[in-house]
Amino acid sequence: AITIYTNEDIKPGAIAGQRIAIIGYGSQGRAHAQNLKDSGHDVVAGVRHGGTGWKHATADGVPTAEPAEAVKGADIIAILTPDMVQGDVYRDIIEPNAKEGSALLFAHGFSIIYERITPRPDMDVILVAPKGPGDLVRREFQRGRGVPSLFAIEKDVTGKARDRAMGYAKGNGGATGGLLETTFREETETDLFGEQAVLCGGAKELVMQGFNTLVEAGYQPEIAYFECLHELKLIVDLFYEGGISKMHHFISETAKYGAVASGPRVVNEETKARMKTILDEIQDGTFARNWIAENEAGKPQYEAWLKADRESQIEQVGARLRERMAWLNTPKSEAA
Ligand code: NDP
Ligand code: MG
Ligand code: MG
Repeated sequence: AITIYTNEDIKPGAIAGQRIAIIGYGSQGRAHAQNLKDSGHDVVAGVRHGGTGWKHATADGVPTAEPAEAVKGADIIAILTPDMVQGDVYRDIIEPNAKEGSALLFAHGFSIIYERITPRPDMDVILVAPKGPGDLVRREFQRGRGVPSLFAIEKDVTGKARDRAMGYAKGNGGATGGLLETTFREETETDLFGEQAVLCGGAKELVMQGFNTLVEAGYQPEIAYFECLHELKLIVDLFYEGGISKMHHFISETAKYGAVASGPRVVNEETKARMKTILDEIQDGTFARNWIAENEAGKPQYEAWLKADRESQIEQVGARLRERMAWLNTPKSEAA
């Protein structure tokens, strides 16, 4: 089984005295910067003056500089902007300003695996990817806990790459949660597959097609909403707490019989074959090429698909029903 590293496994002072620049202060950047600063590290947020990231960093009391200035003098440069702008950020801001022998740190391997960035030969290339959204990474750290994180070493030029990745992950709370070693390729391909086939893509389509089936059969949309979307959380919470077995334990006998009898008629070997196609397209670069081309074209298809989701009936119905759910006052909006 895989080794799970915890705080005791990491060399004390693994990144002592190393300056960390966090470029991009969004979901991940905001959490990493605050956690590393609270762990006693010298952190600067590289943010565009007047932008949202700059406003947040200033409010959080994290030292700020324009991105190019933040890069100068940093030993570890974490590139935490959206994946699609990382190539430009690297070319324009990092490559010309990074000091000799610094490390380029990613939270997702996309830019490296799909060759959007070819780092300067003197730089270490490492990855620290918390398995959760930024707000959870911050919240767990504040509670003295941490979100399990992956780390990977793509290039160790200085001999310090492993200490840098593990030290950074520890300062971010990742070693309290447990640190697992991976490779850039494994992290990138499994992350993309998970979000597409299962989490953000597959689960959403399952919900929407279930809702549409009931509504088209004449049932009231509000009732369909509760059954197909709202109650999913109860089931997912059981998965999360105790796996499939805990879910089986808590549902009724009738639900359980129906689940094992009908579930495999909805999602089955044919679904798996389509999942395999999705995986093949991630591995052979087709997905990345499409996404990059879509960005270069100004994202027309992406925007159209998102608009269709936003305007779908389940969204109209859900907005009205959720107004009555007083406990939803702090929605968790970040994902994957
Ligand atoms: P966000 O979309 O939240 O990042 C937004 C930040 O990037 C903002 O501070 C924005 O600045 C800045 N930014 C955008 N464009 C530029 C630019 N051209 N130059 C300088 N700064 C720019 O990113 P995420 O945190 O979602 O993702 C960061 C990385 O982490 C990605 O590689 C992602 O795959 C990975 N990841 C994300 C997870 C998540 O939960 N979101 C989970 C695990 C990994 P401004 O405020 O000025 O607009
Ligand atoms: Mg993910
Ligand atoms: Mg992802």
